[in-house]
Amino acid sequence: MKSHYWRRREFLKQVFQHASLFSIAIVLGCGGADNQKDATSEKPGGDSPAQNDDPCDETALTQKDLDHRKALGYTEQTPIPEKTCENCKLYIPESDIKKCGTCTLFKGPVTIEGYCTYWADKNV
Ligand code: SF4
Repeated sequence: MKSHYWRRREFLKQVFQHASLFSIAIVLGCGGADNQKDATSEKPGGDSPAQNDDPCDETALTQKDLDHRKALGYTEQTPIPEKTCENCKLYIPESDIKKCGTCTLFKGPVTIEGYCTYWADKNV
């Protein structure tokens, strides 16, 4: 039969193990400041349009959409002046319906001064 001391020790060991797992879950689940910012910027409906006057506003995008844009290296201001979304064959210019350009590769607004690693010369 196990002693009272041993059972207490096992009990405390279990408590600390669960506390550690709980702490890790909190850190992974809540993320850093970036995730907190994104959580507040997401709309309850997910893809519903933002209540914003900026036609190129990204706040209506889901975190998945934002991650996809980031994975493709999209930036609103090109680091290579001769390569912009405006002269890319994948760029869809603004129209009467859409007041900001878009891209065939991902959701959301794209600026004419933008760029990503999939830039393709529209003159080729
Ligand atoms: Fe801009 Fe990249 Fe889309 Fe071309 S592929 S329009 S560079 S975001």
